[in-house]
Amino acid sequence: MTAPCPLYLASSNLGKRREFHLAAAPWGYEVRILPGFDRIPPCIEDGTTFEENARKKALYYSASTSAMVFADDSGIRVDALGGAPGVLSARFAGPHATDAENNMRLLHELARRPGASRSAQYVCVIALAARRQLLGVFEGMVAGVIMDLPRGSGGFGYDPYFYYPPAGKTFAELTPDEKFEVSHRGVAFRKLLNFLALQNAAPRSPAPRLTG
Ligand code: IMP
Repeated sequence: MTAPCPLYLASSNLGKRREFHLAAAPWGYEVRILPGFDRIPPCIEDGTTFEENARKKALYYSASTSAMVFADDSGIRVDALGGAPGVLSARFAGPHATDAENNMRLLHELARRPGASRSAQYVCVIALAARRQLLGVFEGMVAGVIMDLPRGSGGFGYDPYFYYPPAGKTFAELTPDEKFEVSHRGVAFRKLLNFLALQNAAPRSPAPRLTG
């Protein structure tokens, strides 16, 4: 039996690592936090798009190892707010805002637009790199509706307000596995795994810039 191939995640988020790892393990990959991640000066996420931030992080952190490194950037786009908060999702209510503060700001912004459509999308872009070379960029998106009142206790961030019509539940009412099955992050990551499988089957095929 061959040892699983390491795939390093450029993040210290153990919850994300676990989600990615569970999806990658059957494909023969072991997702690990990039060794020494906390000691590397952080990459400044100043891109104006998810793709820009994901690429920047993957390229930056891939300098510290010869193994493959991936980085994700994600957030929520609300149609009635012209796509905001987008890349500013984590900081919607301020630089160190909590999830609760960001959610309050979101509801406040929507209340100022009575009758506006509450359609929204979670978006995730994952970039994969090795030795400062970009190997691929993968995007996932999931559509939902922003609710007035929270439901559920799972997930994080905007999940209690993000209603997902096909399940008839908010993302906070889904189990972690159910969420990863349909989420923006799960969709993007499965594209990455498919890309790696194709590369292994045909090592010389060109790497795509963006799948999605
Ligand atoms: P990051 O890409 O993990 O830094 O996420 C940026 C921000 O987007 C988070 O702080 C959340 O506010 C929001 N976000 C991204 N993905 C999710 C999700 O799956 N559920 C809830 N909020 C999310």
